[in-house]
Amino acid sequence: MSGKIFQKIIDNGFYISTEGYKLINPNFENELDDKTGMYRPKEEFIDDKFLDISISYKIDYIDLSNRIFGCNPNTKLGQVENTYLAQSTNYQRNYKATSGAIVKETLRYLFNTNQIQAAIAVQKTGKLKYEPTKIMNIEEIDRLPSSIYHMVDYTNTLKILKESKEKKFVVVGTPWQIDGMYQYIFKKEPKLKNKIVLTIGLLTGWYFTYHTVKALCRFYNLDYNALDNIVYRGNGKSGKTRLIFENGKQKIFERFTFKSLVAFERYFNVPKFLIEVNTQNMLADLVVGDAHTKDCAYSKTGISLVIARSKKADEILNKMKKRDKIRLLKTDNEHVVRSQKRDRLYGDFAWSYMKYLNKIGEFSPEILAPSKNHYKSIAEAELEKFHRILKRRRKLLSEGKYWQIFIEKYSFQSFGLYKKLICQVLEKIGLIIFPRNLFNRNNYHDKEIREIFI
Ligand SMILES: Cc1cc2nc3c(=O)[nH]c(=O)nc-3n(C[C@H](O)[C@H](O)[C@H](O)COP(=O)(O)OP(=O)(O)OC[C@H]3O[C@@H](n4cnc5c(N)ncnc54)[C@H](O)[C@@H]3O)c2cc1C
Repeated sequence: MSGKIFQKIIDNGFYISTEGYKLINPNFENELDDKTGMYRPKEEFIDDKFLDISISYKIDYIDLSNRIFGCNPNTKLGQVENTYLAQSTNYQRNYKATSGAIVKETLRYLFNTNQIQAAIAVQKTGKLKYEPTKIMNIEEIDRLPSSIYHMVDYTNTLKILKESKEKKFVVVGTPWQIDGMYQYIFKKEPKLKNKIVLTIGLLTGWYFTYHTVKALCRFYNLDYNALDNIVYRGNGKSGKTRLIFENGKQKIFERFTFKSLVAFERYFNVPKFLIEVNTQNMLADLVVGDAHTKDCAYSKTGISLVIARSKKADEILNKMKKRDKIRLLKTDNEHVVRSQKRDRLYGDFAWSYMKYLNKIGEFSPEILAPSKNHYKSIAEAELEKFHRILKRRRKLLSEGKYWQIFIEKYSFQSFGLYKKLICQVLEKIGLIIFPRNLFNRNNYHDKEIREIFI
């Protein structure tokens, strides 16, 4: 029976490759499925034992939050001690990083103060392949990649934690990576928790299948098989996307082109992400995202939006500030909501869509989270339409018909998209002609932001 449920999880695209199954069955392996553009367990490993630890089947954020922080979450965003805007004081490091280089500065600080012996962070391990790896010294930190938006196989996280002789780790990870890690630890091996000094979580709005990368290659007429790497961010506040080939050649383009808007549309997401209610990384001590509000628009290097969930994380940030490693400005939860989209944080779409899936007899996971009773419902007609398009797009994706998706997107479904594009162009023009207006329009602490970060 549970084997059948797990098959539904796979078929719906809800498996996200973070569970600690390798610790239960050392032979376990994921494989990259060309049709879905996602990792999935090799057929022989789909069995009953999976469900017990799978975050795609069941997860209780209230209980896990209690075990980690010792109390029920105190806000709808999860447990929050303080929220900040922050940025490294090292210009080069900041410039190269995804947003404010807070991940890298925190890792450096923890190594320099001997609070950790090793870090687990995602690095490139093969052609387009990224995996969690063990980092033992400070020189490796600046070589860590900026955000990787295509699917990563996270199986190694728990394996490294368990099998390493080092006893003091920091783990850098996406929400589903940290959720999967703690779900396994508290269900199976609670002692492993003692090895974790701190978790640094990424705030995540999107997560794409390999089809995104393949579609980019198709649209720009490039050879996917010769592609070695993709750099999505870095080199400035947002930076351009770079496709890097085995022969060293590169294709560089802006994120907002007609072609890339298709490859990065929501139907190209890992489907689990369409029902994700924890983009805010509720179980991580220190959470880092991009500061997207207009009052931060002037930074040339990038500013991070930071949530300190534990007292320890809060202390670390303030000590880094004292040592002049970072600039730090206290803000509030409202700023976090303004910076991300409300829907992304409170799961308006995700909760509504899960309800819709249940109604039509489809599988959706059992989830308990602080936002469960606070989301705004999406109209059923909209969900029905979404579901219909998703099914069709997944079929087209599995057949590699990216140009057909392109044509459909820009023909009959796209009034909202044109409106968005026009607004973006107007906004860019407005930014050039009336730069000061942005500050006047926005909000209570623009002045401090300018003084501290710009
Ligand atoms: C899939 C994804 C979606 C995201 N979506 C949003 C969003 O919608 N809104 C938002 O505000 N922020 C989002 N982020 C977070 C944001 O892009 C930055 O990662 C964050 O601001 C940290 O910036 P930094 O400059 O401090 O990190 P850096 O100092 O540049 O360090 C980046 C760190 O992230 C690790 N890393 C990179 N990619 C991955 C990955 N796929 N899985 C695990 N670890 C990884 C690297 O190993 C490195 O340690 C997303 C990140 C990812 C990976």
